[in-house]
Amino acid sequence: MSAVAASAVADQLAAVEAVSVYSIGMRTRFRGITVREGMVLRGPSGWGEFCPFDDYGDAVAVPWLAAALEQATHAPPAPVRDRIPVNCTVPAVGPDAAYELVARSGCRTAKVKVADHRASLAEDQARVEAVRAALGADGAVRVDANAAWDVDTAVRYIRVLDRAAGGLEYVEQPCPTLPELARVRRAVDVRIAADESIRRAEDPLRVAVAGAADVAVLKCAPLGGPRRALSVAEACGLPCVVSSALETSVGLAAEVALAAALPELPFACGLGTLSLLEGDVVGPEQALVAAEGVVRVPTATPRPDPAMLAAYAPADPVAVARWLARYRRVSVLLTRRERR
Ligand SMILES: [Mg+2]
Repeated sequence: MSAVAASAVADQLAAVEAVSVYSIGMRTRFRGITVREGMVLRGPSGWGEFCPFDDYGDAVAVPWLAAALEQATHAPPAPVRDRIPVNCTVPAVGPDAAYELVARSGCRTAKVKVADHRASLAEDQARVEAVRAALGADGAVRVDANAAWDVDTAVRYIRVLDRAAGGLEYVEQPCPTLPELARVRRAVDVRIAADESIRRAEDPLRVAVAGAADVAVLKCAPLGGPRRALSVAEACGLPCVVSSALETSVGLAAEVALAAALPELPFACGLGTLSLLEGDVVGPEQALVAAEGVVRVPTATPRPDPAMLAAYAPADPVAVARWLARYRRVSVLLTRRERR
């Protein structure tokens, strides 16, 4: 490559025509946050969203920017389906609240957060039983432990929760590492899904999940966009579930596009998350809200409504400056990474 070779990233960054910062309250505290902040940016192909969480450093935010730029400068991958079944998500709430949430959701699959604290087993068990009761026998119950357990705890707890659920669809990331997942997988009869192991990997394209997991959870924001996420899906060779990163409808469209383009989609996806936000940057007619457990694949990427952008602009100018500075720093890192 010559020293003056054109940079695809520089071209993409130069093609960005407008950026806008948003700040939207969360209906339920999720991932420890009560306000979702991020940026949307407009390019020749439409809008993209850049919304790494606040606690993420610039290096971790690099693929998030790559994903936003892909949205703004490329058409989404070709869809092979127009409806995505989605799961409802049950946070660490009591059994009555869990029952209510699932019954109201219209979803046939529920993902239940477990392992919220060290002595959570009895609470997790009660929550999972309530979720099964709300879904009925033909619904699917999965649990997510967010890497909280060691191998022995995982094996013991999974057996209890599998019984409480009358059969679990899968357990998401019971332990932190792939070797641990492999040991748990050999010891229990429940499918194991890898989430953090893939998206936090140094190189998600080279994660050896075979033998350690039965299902791969993919999110295009941390994987660098729908195209790269599709390559990760192909490389890992497992059935995939697409999950959102709590984006507005703009970023959610990329996650939906990924789910729509995967050759096989045997499980419901974690894309019914718009309802966790108090607002959106697009108008209601373009919002990617789940209805009756399904998100429709949009024919065009949702376009922010200027009135909504104004309504959800951060009240504090410092927040806007902070996001613009973050965007600039991460742009530099992304450009450098491309040159490596
Ligand atoms: Mg997870």
